[in-house]
Amino acid sequence: MPHRSIIEPFKIKSVQSIDLPTVEEREEALQGAGYNLFGLHADAVIIDLLTDSGTGAMSARQWAGMMLGDESYAGGRSFFKFESTVKDITGYAEVIPTHQGRAAERILFANAVKEGDVVPSNTHFDTTRANVEYQGAEARDIVIEEGRDPAIVLPFKGNLDISALQATIADVGADRIPMVMVTVTNNSGGGQPVSIANLRAVREVCDEHGLPMILDACRFAENAWFIKLREEGYADKTPREIAREMFSIADGCTMSAKKDGLANIGGFLALNDPDLAGKCRNLLILTEGFPTYGGLAGYDLEAIAVGLEEVLDENYLRYRIRSTEYLAEKVYAAGVPIVRPAGGHAVYLDAKALLPHIPPDQYPAQALAVELYRNGGVRGVEIGSVMFGKLQPDGSETPAPMELVRLAIPRRTYTQSHIDFVAEVVIDVAMGAADMGGYRIVEQAPWLRHFTARFEPV
Ligand SMILES: *Cc1c(COP(=O)(O)O)cnc(C)c1O
Repeated sequence: MPHRSIIEPFKIKSVQSIDLPTVEEREEALQGAGYNLFGLHADAVIIDLLTDSGTGAMSARQWAGMMLGDESYAGGRSFFKFESTVKDITGYAEVIPTHQGRAAERILFANAVKEGDVVPSNTHFDTTRANVEYQGAEARDIVIEEGRDPAIVLPFKGNLDISALQATIADVGADRIPMVMVTVTNNSGGGQPVSIANLRAVREVCDEHGLPMILDACRFAENAWFIKLREEGYADKTPREIAREMFSIADGCTMSAKKDGLANIGGFLALNDPDLAGKCRNLLILTEGFPTYGGLAGYDLEAIAVGLEEVLDENYLRYRIRSTEYLAEKVYAAGVPIVRPAGGHAVYLDAKALLPHIPPDQYPAQALAVELYRNGGVRGVEIGSVMFGKLQPDGSETPAPMELVRLAIPRRTYTQSHIDFVAEVVIDVAMGAADMGGYRIVEQAPWLRHFTARFEPV
C-alpha cells in the first residue's frame, strides 16, 4: 500500500469566518488585555487553542437530533435516550445528567467527601481539586514519577503510582479515604493516558481496603484509543469494548460532555451504588434541576447522546489522536521543546527549556503565550507560575514545577492547514526565543489570578 495521509473523516457544510488582525491591531489588543490572553475578544484570535472544552464542532446528526429534543420538564424522551446511551457505554446502573463536569463533581463530593478526608488521584483537574477542597478535604496527586518529567517518553505516563497509593492509605487510614479517583486521560498531566493494567492495579488496592474507585472520564474515548494502540492484547478490540472495560473496573464516573461528549455543554455522574445516587439526585434537584434534565435542555441531552456514539468511531479517533501528534511532531522536529509524547487533546510547549534566560518570576510561559498571539494571532494558555505559582508571606513566589504553554485542539474544528499554520507560528516564535523578555504582574486577584491578572513587559 502506498503511503496515505490520515484525513479529517468529515466534510464541512457549515463554516465560521476567521480573520487575522493586523500587527498593530494585535499589539493594541494585547495592551488592552493587559497581556492576558483570557482578556482578548475571541474575534481577534485566528486559531483559538485556549481549550478543547465545549469548542468542538457538532455533526449534522447531532444538530438533527437537537430538533427531536423533547423539552418536557419530567420524564422527557430525550432523557431516556441519553440515559440508555450512557448505560450502554459505561455499564453503570444510575445516570444523572448535569450542566457540566464540575456539577457532577460537586454533587458527588458533597455527599461522599467530608472534612479531613483525603482523595487520591493520578492528577486532579483544577475544578476537581477545588470541589474536593471545598468539602474541607485534601486532593492528593500521585501520578507516577515519570509523569512529572516533560522529556521522558512512556506509553502510559498518566498512570497512578500504586505504591504511593498504598503509602497514602497506610499513612491516613482507609476510613479517611472516601474514594480513589483516576483521570483518563490525565488532563493536568499533559493529556497522558492510563493503561487497563494500571486501572486494574488501582482496583486491587481499592478492594483490599474496601474503597470505591471513580473515573474522571472526560476523555475516556481518547484514553481507549491509546490503549488500543499501546497496550498488549487490545489491538483487535473496538474503542467501545475498551471503554466498557475501563468503566467496568471502577464503581462510577464523573464526566464533562464538553470533551468526549462532543457537545458544547453538559455532563453526567454515573454510579452503581443506588443509595449514593439517590442522595446525589436530591442535591441535583436543589441546585441543578429535576433528575431527567439536570440543568440541560432536552436538545442538549440529544446532542450528547449522539456525540457519545460518534466519539467512539475508529475513524474519528484515529484522526483525532493523529492530528495532535502531527502538530507535536512538526514543532519537535524543528527543535521546539515539548512535553513528550504528545497528549490526546493538546500539545504542551516547554517554555522553561525554550527560554532559559527568563526567570520563573518573569513568567516564561506567559511570555511565550503572548508572543504566539503577537506573531500569528494564535491563542494558547499558560500553565506555569502564573497559574500555579504560590505567593509567600514575604511577597516572593514559589514557582510552579513546570512552565508550559498548552495548545489544546478543539474537536473536528480545525483542518490540517490550520494546524500547519500553528506549527509555522510556533517555530517562528521559537527561532526568536533569545530576544524575548519576561513579564511582571501589575494587578492580580487573591485566587485563580490567571484569569484576570494584568501584566507589563519587564
Ligand atoms: C474539563 C474537565 C473537568 C470539568 O468539567 P467542566 O465541564 O469544565 O465543568 C473535570 N475533569 C477534567 C479532567 C476535565 O478536563
